[in-house]
Amino acid sequence: MTLRVYNTLSGEKELFETVKPGEVGIYLCGPTVYKPSHIGHAVGPIIFDVIKRYLTFKNFKVTWVLNVTDVEDKLIAESQAQGRDMLELARDLERQYVDAMAALGVKNIDYMPRASEHIQEIIDHIGQLMEKDYAYAVDGDVYFDVSKDEDYGKLTNRKADDQESGTREGLVKAAKRNPGDFALWKAAKPGEPDSAKYKAPWGSGRPGWHIECSAMAMKYLGQTFDIHGGGLDLKFPHHENEIAQAESATDQVFAKYWLHHGLTRFNTKKIAKSDPEMAKVMESLQITNLLKKHDPEVLRFLILQSHYRSPIEFSEDVVKAAKTGLGTFRRLLERIERVTNADPYKPELQIERMRDVEMDPRSRSLFDELMQSRVRFLEELDDDFNTAGAIAVLFEIASAMNKYIDDAKLETHSEELPRNVLRACGGTLVSFGNILGLFERRPAAVSMGDDGKVPALLELLVDVRKMSREAKQYGIGDHIRDELTKLGITLEDGKDGTRWRID
Ligand SMILES: [Zn+2]
Repeated sequence: MTLRVYNTLSGEKELFETVKPGEVGIYLCGPTVYKPSHIGHAVGPIIFDVIKRYLTFKNFKVTWVLNVTDVEDKLIAESQAQGRDMLELARDLERQYVDAMAALGVKNIDYMPRASEHIQEIIDHIGQLMEKDYAYAVDGDVYFDVSKDEDYGKLTNRKADDQESGTREGLVKAAKRNPGDFALWKAAKPGEPDSAKYKAPWGSGRPGWHIECSAMAMKYLGQTFDIHGGGLDLKFPHHENEIAQAESATDQVFAKYWLHHGLTRFNTKKIAKSDPEMAKVMESLQITNLLKKHDPEVLRFLILQSHYRSPIEFSEDVVKAAKTGLGTFRRLLERIERVTNADPYKPELQIERMRDVEMDPRSRSLFDELMQSRVRFLEELDDDFNTAGAIAVLFEIASAMNKYIDDAKLETHSEELPRNVLRACGGTLVSFGNILGLFERRPAAVSMGDDGKVPALLELLVDVRKMSREAKQYGIGDHIRDELTKLGITLEDGKDGTRWRID
C-alpha cells in the first residue's frame, strides 16, 4: 500500500516519497500566542498528530516541529492593552495551549521552537537574503524584493504584482521597491516594549512573521524537508513568503509537500461582529472553556470525522452527534470487556495472530470481515490521510462485532465460547483507534462534577432495584430504572448483574 498526499503546490494527490529514506520531517505553523486559542486552532495539531502517528505506524522516523510565534505585532498590541510584559503574556498563553493540546491527545510534537529564542538564526537568514540581493534595508526595515524571485507565487499561482492586498503589512510604504515586497525585519518604533526589540546589523527591531517560520523550519529540519502544513488561510501570503525566503536563500526546494487543512466554521452568521454576544460566543469556543464542558476525546473524534481539507462545522449539535458516535465504540468496548473479562483498552491480542486458529463458522466470518476492514482502514489513511473514511470503517467493524455478540448470545450464554476471537477483534479495533489517537484510555466513568460519590450512589440504586425485584416489587424496580433513564443514566441487565452507564 502506498501513501498519496494532496500537495497544494501541484494541486494533485502525489505519491509520498521522503527526502531521506525512512525519515519524515514535518513543520506545522503553530499559534501566535496573543489570545486564548479557540477550537479551530486545534484542527491542525490534531490532524498532524494523526499524520505523525500514521507515518510512525508505517515505520518512518518522524520529526515534527510546531512553532510558537511570540514576537509579533498583535502580541505587542495585546500586551500593551493589558499592561503586561509581552513575553510573560506569551508564556501564559503558550502554557494554556500546550495543556489544551495534551488534553486533546496531541502529544507527539518533537520541537516547539519560540521565535524569541531564534533571533540569531532569523538574522542570519535575512543576512543571506541581503547578500544575494533578494532583500534590502530602508530606515531600519528590511524587505524581501519579490521582483528578484522568479517563481514567486508558485504555491497559490499569483503574480508578484498583485500581492499587496491581503498582506499583514497593509499600507503600501513609499520606501518599498515593489508593492508586493514584504517585511523581513521591522524597525523598533517608539513606545514598543524592550522585549520586542532585538539588535541587528541594520538596526534594532523585530523579525517579520514569515521569516520566523522559514528560519526555524530549516534549523530543525534542514534546507529541504518533507511536509509543511498549516490552515488554508496561511497559504497566502504566509506560506508563499516562506517559500520565497527559504528557496531564495538556499537555492534548494524548501518543503516537498504542502498540506493545508480546512477552517472551522462557527454558526455566528446572524451576530454582528460588534455585538457583545459575539464576544461571548467566541469565548465559549475557546479550547479551555470547551474542555470544561466536553470530553476531549469527543472533540477529537468530531474533528477527525471530517476530511482534513474540508471545513468543519462546529456547533452544539455537531458535538452531540460526535458524542453519540464515540459512544457506539465505548459501549462496544464495555460489552467486549464483559464477555472476555479482559481490558479492551490494552490491545494485546490482534486478529493477525488468529490466522491459523480453528474457529466456528460465525467466528470465521467475523474474522474474515475484520481482515478485509483492516485493509480498507489502511487504504483510507493512505489516501491523503482520510480520517473520515477510516472512522467510517471503524463503525462498520463495530456493527459487525455487535452483531456477532448478539447472534452468538455471548452476553447471556455461560458455556465455553470462542471469546478469543472477540478479544482479538476488539484489540484490532482499539489499535486502529489508537492510530487516530482514539480509545487510548477508558473514559472517565462519571463527568457530573461529583466528588466521587456518584458511582457509589448508583451502585446503591442498582442494589435496591435488585432487592425490590427479588421481593417481587417490580413497580419499584421499574420506577428506579425509568427515573434514571430521564437523568441520562442507562441500566443494562446482563448475566452477571446490572451495569449502569451515564450517556
Ligand atoms: Zn508559519
